[in-house]
Amino acid sequence: ASIEHSRALKVLLAGPRGFCAGVDRAIRVVEEALRRYGAPVYVRHEIVHNRTVVENLEKKGAIFVEELDEVPEDAHVVFSAHGVPKTVPLEAVRRNLLYLDATCPLVSKVHREAERHFADGGANSRHILMIGHAGHPEVVGTMGQLPVGAVTLIKDADEARTVQPENPDRLAFITQTTLSVDDTAEIVAILRERFPKIEGPKREDICYATTNRQEAVKRIAPECDLVLVIGSPNSSNSQRLREVAERSGAPKALLIPKLENLEWDALDGVNVLGITAGASAPETLVQEIIEALSQKFTLDIEERIVKEEHVTFSLPAPLG
Ligand code: SF4
Repeated sequence: ASIEHSRALKVLLAGPRGFCAGVDRAIRVVEEALRRYGAPVYVRHEIVHNRTVVENLEKKGAIFVEELDEVPEDAHVVFSAHGVPKTVPLEAVRRNLLYLDATCPLVSKVHREAERHFADGGANSRHILMIGHAGHPEVVGTMGQLPVGAVTLIKDADEARTVQPENPDRLAFITQTTLSVDDTAEIVAILRERFPKIEGPKREDICYATTNRQEAVKRIAPECDLVLVIGSPNSSNSQRLREVAERSGAPKALLIPKLENLEWDALDGVNVLGITAGASAPETLVQEIIEALSQKFTLDIEERIVKEEHVTFSLPAPLG
């Protein structure tokens, strides 16, 4: 009998990674609603951008829909962590739906900032430039706090250089919470240079979880031959982690939803593998991958934690 010696593989685990406080809370909202009111509980849009999370909640009796017209009268419906335009709760009330709002408190904070700048459209009103990705539900929700035309979307540095607001002296900016920290800093610098009177948060509205996960992957990337980002393709913060890993020195970074999507050939020639996970990806998906790796390699696992997180959010009324 031959003894197989498996090849050595060093694994650098980025910390923090995976669930943030807003995602954890949004999932608890659905679970608690199911517990209190019984199945089915409807959820408008993926509660968080992760298939595994969605499928687990479906097994417990959640039904995911894209719009409220798919929800029957008198049913319970949860709004996703990304937030919703003002028209959505109004429509829910009109339809007699019992709604629970799982919008992350850090997204709601940006909504209130936007409203403050808009100031009811009166003499103190500022036109708002929102830095974000077109079509992302968080952007749709935030822009939908104000009347059409009150907010202009700025998608990249080029648009920041060319935007021609009506009154450059009465401007404010806000941002999506899950952007690239570095790209956004560049865009904000361009806006501040062009429009010295622009108002905005000190830096941007990128949340603590996005910032910490990017910082953590930045630290490990230069030592890695490959970085795996566990997360869904429609998850903004997961996509940003993949980009940040490659820009910070990893020759390659792959975004994969789960173990089944890992092509083992990708590990050929890899001696140091970095692993992180987006804010909507459960830690079980990371552990599954490590377990599968341990069947094929002799692993040396090291976790590099750049920051401890102690953020938690309580459940919204009437569940809290
Ligand atoms: Fe909230 Fe940030 Fe998590 Fe989004 S990524 S849910 S803003 S904590």
